[in-house]
Amino acid sequence: MSVPFLDLSAMHNSMRPGLDAAYQRVVDSSSFILGKEVELFETEFAAYCETRHAVGVANGLDALFLVLKAMDIGAGDEVIVPSNTYIATWLAVSYAGATPVPVEPDPHTFNLDASRIEAALTPRTRAIMPVHLYGQPADMDGINALAAKHGLKVLEDAAQAHGARYKGRLVGGLGDAAGFSFYPGKNLGALGDGGAITTNDDALAARLRVLRNYGSERKYHNQYKGFNSRLDELQAAFLREKLRLLDGWNVQRRAIADRYREALEGCGVAVPQVPEWAEPVWHLFVVRSAQRDALAQALANRGIGTVIHYPVAPHRQPAYSELKLGVGSLPVAEAIHDEVLSLPIWPQMSDAQVEQVISACRDAAASL
Ligand SMILES: *Cc1c(COP(=O)(O)O)cnc(C)c1O
Repeated sequence: MSVPFLDLSAMHNSMRPGLDAAYQRVVDSSSFILGKEVELFETEFAAYCETRHAVGVANGLDALFLVLKAMDIGAGDEVIVPSNTYIATWLAVSYAGATPVPVEPDPHTFNLDASRIEAALTPRTRAIMPVHLYGQPADMDGINALAAKHGLKVLEDAAQAHGARYKGRLVGGLGDAAGFSFYPGKNLGALGDGGAITTNDDALAARLRVLRNYGSERKYHNQYKGFNSRLDELQAAFLREKLRLLDGWNVQRRAIADRYREALEGCGVAVPQVPEWAEPVWHLFVVRSAQRDALAQALANRGIGTVIHYPVAPHRQPAYSELKLGVGSLPVAEAIHDEVLSLPIWPQMSDAQVEQVISACRDAAASL
């Protein structure tokens, strides 16, 4: 028996009647763009995140980019981003015409280290973009205090953290705005692309609703050079079905992560650390090993699927060669990208699958 890295079939089979009904509602409505399902999903997702607004958009990258646009952040501006993240965080800044300025993370939590940010600030800095990486909330109090002191905006990249809590408060409402992704493998995933912005700022939400829809408040009257980045009506209908199940799925992810952490402690690979104020939702379960590639191979030999999130740090990607950040310029991120490996974790994993991953991992680590 082998264990794939991710298997969404059990999730979707178990909720087939709900997905079928969602599809039928949309077909019967003959309303496919910005209709009732998007409106209802926005209301329900805002309630879930305990924010005043949610604005549905085409994907997570657009969610982040459109917020920067709506904040008038662009050419000549700098935005603080983590040095270790999925490249979308950086691309959102680049799309807006601004420059991403990387800051190293806390190597134990993989998240932005507030104490390192101040040294990276310049008169051009406009915003800080913490990422709640792998489903673990970033340490927001230090980041928000720094932002308040320097008059900066805070944009959460919550693409991997639907439902995570920081000191009891949900991500999505911890800064000025947050961007979520509903890419299929995310904790709340559509059956295609999707994204949303959450915010408590009425004016920002209103501006985003216009920007995502060609910059027009009234059809064929264009206030801004806007974009076509709308959450699809069909995806919104599927997401409404899934949102009701999200908390249960996150509980299942937590149980698997707790079991992994307990069983893999001390076996030779480093398991993720959780600060006492964090309630992560375990989008990914990421271990660290100096012999990462050998570990991945040993796990593959034992039938366990793994993925590297991510193999190359953004500053080492050819796409960002213009920043001229050579090897060794961001050593914490480079070490992370060289050593991380994600184990299988999805809500419907069976106990037998979890135990198989554990024994293969202990065995593989001992063989290195
Ligand atoms: C998935 C992801 C995004 C982008 O989301 P898409 O919906 O794929 O555009 C942004 N940031 C992070 C950290 C992500 O994991």
